Amino acid sequence: MLKQQHKDRIARGDYMIDKKSPSAINRRTFIGVTSAIGAMAASGAGPAIAQSSSSRPVVISSGNGFVHRNGGTETCVERAYRMITEGTDVLESLIAGVNIVELDPEDASVGYGGLPDAWGRVTLDSCCMHGPLKRAGGVAALQGVRTPSNVAKAVADLTDHHLLVAQGAQDFARQMGFSIEEDLNTERSRQRYLEWRRRIDPSHYPDPNRQAQLTPDAYRQFARESIQVAEDMAAEGLIDPEHLYGTINCNGVNNNGDVCGVTTTSGLAWKIPGRVGDSPILGAGLYVSNDHGAAGSTGRGEANLYNLASFLVVEELRRGADPKDAGMIALQRIWENTETRLLNENREPTFNVNFYVLGKDGRHAGVAFYGASSGNQRNYAVCDENGGRHEPIEGLIR
Ligand code: ASP
Repeated sequence: MLKQQHKDRIARGDYMIDKKSPSAINRRTFIGVTSAIGAMAASGAGPAIAQSSSSRPVVISSGNGFVHRNGGTETCVERAYRMITEGTDVLESLIAGVNIVELDPEDASVGYGGLPDAWGRVTLDSCCMHGPLKRAGGVAALQGVRTPSNVAKAVADLTDHHLLVAQGAQDFARQMGFSIEEDLNTERSRQRYLEWRRRIDPSHYPDPNRQAQLTPDAYRQFARESIQVAEDMAAEGLIDPEHLYGTINCNGVNNNGDVCGVTTTSGLAWKIPGRVGDSPILGAGLYVSNDHGAAGSTGRGEANLYNLASFLVVEELRRGADPKDAGMIALQRIWENTETRLLNENREPTFNVNFYVLGKDGRHAGVAFYGASSGNQRNYAVCDENGGRHEPIEGLIR
């Protein structure tokens, strides 16, 4: 059930995208703004750049950023926070943090040992954004490099482009000195893949004729059948249900108010080869505005690609929403734009999408359709002056 508090706010229109529409700007304001722009142009000045105000350093991430890995003593958010407070560049610090997760063979959703595609190949997606430098870079469907976030940063720092894919991304990585490995599967991810192949059904290629004949109810049944194999494997403990989808997004701000973010993933387990999710796409899996904050996402990438929802979250920060409301507005938009086949009997989404939202002032929130109160221990990770910890994700629905 949709939570009452959110029901009331939806009814009041708090989560309506148009509520704070620019058309609400009155004529006087409009003339004021345009004459200011005119004066700026006449004086030869560029666009106004908001000055960095002082902020409190904070790092947030998806829940997997506060887990000790490989016997290490620091988690992702703790490492990133320590480096930021020692004065390291915010994006470098965040990437050093997510590297811990990318390199962990036990994490089946990110980097080395991530669950492979339907052909058994581990293909990785990542992007990053540097707020103060206004730089961004991403790689998609990259094979052979354990830490795609570093390649994404190289795209941002060393090229005029924002996104390199597949063989081109790998060729670029090789040229930049990254070592390219033949296969990023671990014994664990390979065994999970072989088990999936053993049970395989054609769920990734639903028959178009069958689809056309299906009523919405029958379609829902078909969709349920088609994910049954994965759910059975999760129920048997062969895969972590949270890791059918799985990713790390990590965002941070330092005491100058410099905001950066990074997202990195192996994407959807056993995806159609060539499938790219939201994680490497600017505006979908991540968006950063140095003036307002950062938002990144995990969960069903297709929902987020359709709505470019991380961009929407940051737009809402720009319009003055607090981090939680900004995330809820984006969830509401995704819900409105969801195909019937992906809604349950109560017309609620049958999938989850999470947003990790960080304001430039250090306020933050984790939101999702189904949050901590849905009983799945859904948390996000935070590190600030009080140390590293998990905080509950607030659910829009439960
Ligand atoms: N959003 C990622 C994707 O769709 C997966 C995830 O976050 O779990 O590729």
